[in-house]
Amino acid sequence: MSTPDSPPSGDAPVLRMKSVRKTFGGSVVLRDVDLEVAPHTVTALIGASGSGKSTLLRCANLLEEIDDGAIWLEGEEITDPRVDQDAVRRRIGVVFQAYNLFPHMTVLDNITLAPRRVHGVSRGEAEAHARELLERLGLGGKADAYPDRLSGGQQQRVAIVRALAVRPRLLLLDEITAALDPELVGEVLEMVRGLKDEGMTMVLATHEMGFARDVADQVCFLDGGVVLERGSPERVFGDPRQERTRRFLRRVV
Ligand code: ADP
Ligand code: MG
Repeated sequence: MSTPDSPPSGDAPVLRMKSVRKTFGGSVVLRDVDLEVAPHTVTALIGASGSGKSTLLRCANLLEEIDDGAIWLEGEEITDPRVDQDAVRRRIGVVFQAYNLFPHMTVLDNITLAPRRVHGVSRGEAEAHARELLERLGLGGKADAYPDRLSGGQQQRVAIVRALAVRPRLLLLDEITAALDPELVGEVLEMVRGLKDEGMTMVLATHEMGFARDVADQVCFLDGGVVLERGSPERVFGDPRQERTRRFLRRVV
C-alpha cells in the first residue's frame, strides 16, 4: 500500500490527509490523521461514538477548519488559505445521518436545486440529469413526490441522488443508515454498493460492520481521534492487531 509520503503518480489519490489535527476548545479531536483515498475506492471509518469520524468527514469537506496538517483533493491542497472553499465543496457530495430534504419541495426540485443555483446548470439539463439518476437508481416514479410521501429509506436514497446531481468527484457519507428502521437499511446500503460498482469514490462513517467488511477497500478504525488501525477489511476485521480494535469489534460485531 502506498503511504502519504510516496511520490505523486498519475493515479493521484482523490483525497489525501497528512498529519491533520483538529481541536475544539482545548480538546484534541483529530490527532495526526493521515488518510489516502484512491480513485474508485471505498474507505470505511469505524470506531466508537465520539472517536472523530464525523469531524474527519467535515474537515475533508472544509466544514471545519483544521489546526494543523494539510488536505488535498485530486492533488490540489484545499487547506491552502488561497483556495476557493466553495469551489472545493462543489466537487464533494455529502450525505448526513438525518435526511435533509426540503419538505416543501418535490424530489425533482430537491435534486435540481444545487445544480441550478450553485452550478449554473439550466433547468432543462438539471431535470434531465435528475430523472436519469432517479431512473437508474430505482426511484423513477418518485420525481414529483414530496418527501413526506416517501419512506425513510427512499428519502435517504433521494438524498444520495441529490448529492450525486452535482457530479461530485468524492462522496462523503456520514452514518447514512443510523436513523433508519432496520428494515429500511438494506435498500440504502444496496444503493451505495451500486455506486461503488459504478466507480464512485467514497468515504463513509458507519456502524454497519458487515457492510463495511463487504464493500470497503480500506477500513480505518478511529479511537480518540487517532487512526489506530487501518488496512483491508480482511485484515482489520479478520486479524486486528490492536487490543482496542479487538475490544471494539467484540462489542459491535
Ligand atoms: P463520531 O462521529 O465518531 O461520533 P465526532 O467527530 O462527532 O465523533 O466527535 C468527536 C469529538 O469531537 C467528540 O468528543 C465530540 O464531542 C467533539 N465535537 C464534535 N463536534 C464538536 C463541536 N462542534 N464543538 C465541540 N466539540 C465537538
Ligand atoms: Mg458521527
